[in-house]
Order: sequence, then C-alpha cells, then structure tokens
Amino acid sequence: MNRDDFPQLKSGVIYLDNAATTFKPRCVVDRVNDFYVHENANIYRGLYDLSVKATQLYEDARKIVADFINAEPEEIIFTSGTTDSINKFTQMLDLSDKVVATDITGHHSNMLPWREHAKKVNYILCNQNGCSIGPGNCAEVNDSIDMVAMSMCSNVFGDTKSFEDAYGRSDARVLFFGDAAQAIAHKKIDVRMYNYNPLALAFSGHKIFGPTGIGVLYVEKRIHDKLRPTCFGGEMVENVTKDNYDLAPIPQRFEAGTPNIAGVIALAEAIKYFAKHQTEFFEHEKILAENAHFGLSEIEGLHIVSTKNDPIISFTVDGVHPHDVAQYLATHNICVRAGYHCAQPGLDFLEIGPVTRISIAPYNTLEEIDKTVSVLKNLRKDMHV
Ligand code: PMP
Repeated sequence: MNRDDFPQLKSGVIYLDNAATTFKPRCVVDRVNDFYVHENANIYRGLYDLSVKATQLYEDARKIVADFINAEPEEIIFTSGTTDSINKFTQMLDLSDKVVATDITGHHSNMLPWREHAKKVNYILCNQNGCSIGPGNCAEVNDSIDMVAMSMCSNVFGDTKSFEDAYGRSDARVLFFGDAAQAIAHKKIDVRMYNYNPLALAFSGHKIFGPTGIGVLYVEKRIHDKLRPTCFGGEMVENVTKDNYDLAPIPQRFEAGTPNIAGVIALAEAIKYFAKHQTEFFEHEKILAENAHFGLSEIEGLHIVSTKNDPIISFTVDGVHPHDVAQYLATHNICVRAGYHCAQPGLDFLEIGPVTRISIAPYNTLEEIDKTVSVLKNLRKDMHV
C-alpha cells in the first residue's frame, strides 16, 4: 500500500473511522476533477461528442462495478448510497403481504425501510458469533418468511458470518438481500456464489475509496420481473403520450433524472484501484486487526465486543463513557467513532449499550495501531477511574 496515494494522510492524523467513510486516493479525486474540467455533459440524449463520451464513460463504469462483484451490467442500478438503495428496493418490491427476517444487529438503514414497507419484520437474533442464538431462529429463517435482509458484515461487530449462517439454512424460494455497506471493503463479494436463492444487495461508494453520494443496488435478473419503478421522470421511459408511457429497460427504468455522472465514473476509478490491490489490502488489514485485538485485549478494564481479529473493533471501557473514550483519543489526533453506530436494537438486545469503534483501512499502519493501543493504556488512569 502506497500511503502517498492518499493526500489526506499527509496531515498526520491517525484515521481509524474507516467504517464511517474512507479517505480517497488521488486517482479518485482527479477523476472527479477531470470530468468536470474536460468531460462534463449530460448522458443518453445528446448527439454531440461530449454527451456520447459521457454516456460511454457512465456505462463503462457500470460494467466495472458489475465485474467487481461478478454481476451483469443490467443488474447494477446506481443510487446515492446504501440507505437510498435499500429504501428504493423496499419500494420496488410489493412487500405489503410479505414477512421479512432481518438481523437484530443490523444497521438502522437495513431495518427501518423493511419495517416501513413489509407486512411484518421478524428479528433473527445474532451476536458476534453469528445468528444461531435465541429460540426458534431456524424456523424463522425457513418456514414463515418470504425474504431475508441481513448485514453481510456488521458495522459494530465486524464479519459475524450471520448472512452465511442464515443463507445456509434457507430454502431456495426465499429472496435474500445483503447489506454490503461494510462487507464490500473487507471481503470478496461474488454474487454468483449465492445462486441457490434470488439475491439483491447494496453498498456505498464512499466506504471503498469512492466519492460520497454514490451507491449501488445490485438486483439479480431472476427478480427483475417483480420490480416496479418508484421514481418517475426523464430517462426511465421510452415513449410518452398524453395518457400512457412505455418503461425503459432495466436498469435505466430505475435511474430517473440526471444521475450523479461524475460520482459513477469516479466510483469505477475507486473500484479499479481497490480491485488491483485487494489481496494485499486484505492481508495487511488482517495483520493490523490481529495486532489491535491482541494489544487491546491486554488493557485492563477494556472489553472487545466484536468478532475476534476483525478490522472493525468495538469495545467498552469500565467506568468511561464511549464518547469520553473517543474524545480522549481525539486529543491525541486519533479519529474513532463512539455511540450506537445506527445499530441500537442489537446493542440494546445484547445489553452492551454504546461502544467505541476502531475501524481499520488498508492505509493504516502497525505504528498507528501501536500508538492507539498505548494511548488507550493510559485512558483509565488519566480519567481517574
Ligand atoms: N449499513 C451498514 C452496515 C453501514 O455500516 C452503513 C453506514 N454506516 C449503512 C448501511 C448506510 O450507509 P450509507 O450511510 O452510506 O447510506
């Protein structure tokens, strides 16, 4: 990993809030800039070179995103982020008579839209070891539900394998939805590995070195005939008369209006960068995560609550509120996140409450981890606890 690729790292800050959003490599920043300086035009309708070129770049980007998760380009719908993808998807399906199961440890963004639109939401009880706890879970996954909507990696507990647990126990009729907001940055996602069930998933560009305001909704072709448009206007229709209209093919049908063209093109740049180094990134992250877990587990009064050796590390400290932990680290130029992390039902259910979270990216270093651990060693003493 070349840290020089990330201009913001030059400030010297120790940035360990990567689950919230990552820093951006120079190539992504330049790609946004180049589009607006040299290539700006609206897509699809223009017959002049600039518009044809912008359309080509936009559709090339769709292919790059599709290849990254082993999907087909028409299975990729661009949105403004994971939250937008899930809100759209829950309205694209008619869920009024559907029972949906979701993990209790999931993010509010993968909970509230289902609660809003489905007939009923059942919670799959999960902890850091997966979703096998609690009575009756297997039955919930198999018998009474129509859909499962799970995190593929929790933003609090890391990769709990609960998605895989639930997937392994489902029957083929059940539609699976994966919240891949965190998973996309920490594990290789190949949508064809989940061929047994129809699948959709969502992720955001900004957690994988891309810009904010751009996201992906992947919907497998098998489900396309179940989807209805939720947003109406230009580009999602072919012929419009005073009383009727013909829908454009998918995915354009679900991308009404002028999209975030520069965002899509820069997301493709981020994915090219990420994909090129993916194996090296995962190996490096693993070493950092193991070191962080080891160092933190030696600190008296500090309790790690997340999956062992995962790059997303949540913990509590006896006698110190997580906000105070985060503020203390901030005074040492270390950025972490504290609180409920938009996953309050799970933290309440597990009786953990708010936590402090360190989240590692490939550009972090062993020195940064060591520094963070050594600062935390003094926390309780400095707080007079
Ligand atoms: N799901 C998970 C697991 C997340 O971590 C996040 C972001 N924290 C989201 C959904 C929502 O992502 P966004 O804010 O980019 O829409």
